[in-house]
Amino acid sequence: MITKNLQNLYAVVPNHVKIIAVSKTHGIDKINEAYNVGHRYFGENKVQELIAKYPQLPSDIEWHMIGHLQTNKVKYIAPFVSLIQSVDSIKLLETIDKEGKKNNRIIPCLLQVHIAQEETKFGFNENELWQILNDETLNNYTHVSICGLMGIATFTDDKNQIKKEFRYLFNLFQQARKYVHAHKHSFTILSMGMSNDFEVAIEEGSNMIRIGSLIFGERHYK
Ligand SMILES: *Cc1c(COP(=O)(O)O)cnc(C)c1O
Repeated sequence: MITKNLQNLYAVVPNHVKIIAVSKTHGIDKINEAYNVGHRYFGENKVQELIAKYPQLPSDIEWHMIGHLQTNKVKYIAPFVSLIQSVDSIKLLETIDKEGKKNNRIIPCLLQVHIAQEETKFGFNENELWQILNDETLNNYTHVSICGLMGIATFTDDKNQIKKEFRYLFNLFQQARKYVHAHKHSFTILSMGMSNDFEVAIEEGSNMIRIGSLIFGERHYK
């Protein structure tokens, strides 16, 4: 089933859009099945789960952290994580920089922007985003690279609402790009779109989608 699901997805998603297979709650066998189809990009939203799976799977997998990250847990993923998509505070960015330094690597990150109507979703608002991108101290980060933005749309069937939110994020991304070019960071990734809304997201300019249930099936939380 996973093989078929991935093939169906590859068939409809344009080449410039990177698919992150969100494997949270799913076991090693399922991840291996996707790996054997040739898929290499996986996302998890919990540090504990990520560090449990990581050593059991091939080392050429690119692991993305997509969930809210506590500063005291950065150290566990800093040695190997490919992209932290869920940076939602300056304090977290500072911690990632520090852990990058310890591990002698530059850790790629996305700034998460709050675009949904729900209160519960993490992320910066527009003002906070400009504050960060305008902040000269951004240049002091030597071991973190700010590569773009990530957002989660409102969970709704209202396609117009979702479209509006993605369009808003795309516009922020376009504006932010100009700022960030002044810094040394390579700002090229716009991560938006999940199983239910990736088509709209791609129409609105996404170049990275995070797909869970459409690849692995429904999640069963224990
Ligand atoms: C779980 C999750 C996804 C994938 O959700 P699906 O609806 O199963 O595709 C994408 N992004 C984030 C941040 C998630 O937590």
